[in-house]
Amino acid sequence: MAQTKIEPVVFNNSSGDKSTDAQLHITVFDSKDTTMRALKRLGLFWLLALASLPIIGAHWVLVPGFFIAGPIAAVLAYKVKEVFDKSSGVCPECRESIEVKMEAKEVLPKWTYCPKCNQPLQISR
Ligand SMILES: [Zn+2]
Repeated sequence: MAQTKIEPVVFNNSSGDKSTDAQLHITVFDSKDTTMRALKRLGLFWLLALASLPIIGAHWVLVPGFFIAGPIAAVLAYKVKEVFDKSSGVCPECRESIEVKMEAKEVLPKWTYCPKCNQPLQISR
């Protein structure tokens, strides 16, 4: 089962004089999850290879392309052990409780905008 891990981060405002404590939610995959994710990725790419069979002309490229890309995508998916989910905390500017959606492979520190007051916001460890 995938589990959620919470790590402490800090929300800073644009001038850096105000900051608040926040939480980073990380989804952690165990070996069963990573295997399932890899198999799903492989299945999807091979399904796309099969689906592109009737496309005259393009199937010379698409079918072998998806067929080869399947195992590569599966290995890449298998290597991912944890993904960022979101960070939550209090905005240093408007003092509202906010949640910021994170990309799976985000690099911290990250600049974004407060969803409530639209002021620049930096998320750092
Ligand atoms: Zn705000």
